[in-house]
Amino acid sequence: MNLHEYQGKEILASFGVRIQRGIVAGSAKDAVAAAKQLTQETGTGWHVIKAQVHAGGRGKGGGVKLAKNLQEVEEIADSIIGMDLVTPQTSAEGKRVHQVLVAEDVYYPGDSEPDEFYMSVLLDRSKGRNMIMYSTEGGMDIEEVAEKTSHLIFHEEVDPSIGLMPFQARRIAFNLGLSGTAFKEMVKFVTALYKAYESSDSSLFEINPVLKTSDDKIMAVDAKVTLDDNALYRHKDYAEMRDLREEDPIEVEAKEAGLNFVNLDGNVGCMVNGAGLAMATMDLIKMAGGEPANFLDVGGTADAKRVETAFRIILKDPNVKAILVNIFGGIVRCDRVAQGIVDAYKNMGDAIQVPIIVRLQGTNAEIAKELIDNSGLAVHSAIEFQEAADKVQEVLK
Ligand code: GDP
Ligand code: MN
Repeated sequence: MNLHEYQGKEILASFGVRIQRGIVAGSAKDAVAAAKQLTQETGTGWHVIKAQVHAGGRGKGGGVKLAKNLQEVEEIADSIIGMDLVTPQTSAEGKRVHQVLVAEDVYYPGDSEPDEFYMSVLLDRSKGRNMIMYSTEGGMDIEEVAEKTSHLIFHEEVDPSIGLMPFQARRIAFNLGLSGTAFKEMVKFVTALYKAYESSDSSLFEINPVLKTSDDKIMAVDAKVTLDDNALYRHKDYAEMRDLREEDPIEVEAKEAGLNFVNLDGNVGCMVNGAGLAMATMDLIKMAGGEPANFLDVGGTADAKRVETAFRIILKDPNVKAILVNIFGGIVRCDRVAQGIVDAYKNMGDAIQVPIIVRLQGTNAEIAKELIDNSGLAVHSAIEFQEAADKVQEVLK
């Protein structure tokens, strides 16, 4: 689960990481009130207005702007809230902005060349360890830095059973070319950042930029956080931070129905039991000349109700030209699944306008095939994998 910048910063602050302070606002009026409050608390009269969407590169897309007085705060907030922000990380339609973060301006006037670093803590699955990735080249596209000047990116591997050692934090500060107060500040910053990452069960904390102010403070100006969904039950307060407006509505609906679903952009919908079989089915669709429109694991209970919900969710995607059902009947008998499909189909009436190919293999597969063939419905049946692939190819023609 991804978080907004302001939510990520809340978590950081709770672990003692210094952040660029800000207040989230849903309207231009609230933005002005937020700016006034910040001025009282922080003393800076300038503010940055930052679009809160789950996408990076907001600065490039015009979603981060500096306001030098309250009137500008109002004008900028008004123009950003409600806009469809297009950044290098969004689709061409962009993402609708519902909220802005009104933050204190931390790039002090007269500070011509502020020091911006890059730092992220993430899970390195291949090593089974946490990794701190950092660079002197912050503020810009880190992918570009990695491509053109990879020697400017450093890595610090952290053994999760030991945690970040003090010498590692010092090595990071040293490699970033810091000394004196800034060095000490960076050691504190990294230590607290790692603690935030670890304690929140995250898989990513990316801070770009980390800023060194002209008076040697080190702070997080941005925060991109990905929490591990499987650990959310341990963090009820973080789970509440989920913003469904940022997520694919079809995926949200599928999740509520207890289906394991990922929306993709192909033309063949699939309904499968088991994640491994779902992957194999997607390969099969590709080899048959199609593109999978989704990944959908209906799980163990493929009864009529579940099958119907799955059909309805798959059919919400207008690109779907055919549906392939591929179920292995191990614990669940194929004839029961077949009956479920027939019932769901009848129940849905005209809602199904695309050909359906059903491949059932396992217990009572023959009976299941007969059941489908005799149903009088426009459903193609198959038992073998290849048979199913050929039928997909046929209907796509
Ligand atoms: P991103 O573009 O989505 O990664 O959003 P960031 O939060 O990283 O902001 C983009 C850029 O805005 C940063 O790299 C900074 O250069 C600039 N920026 C952020 N905060 C401030 C600020 O307080 N003052 C000024 N002048 N610029 C800022
Ligand atoms: Mn950034």
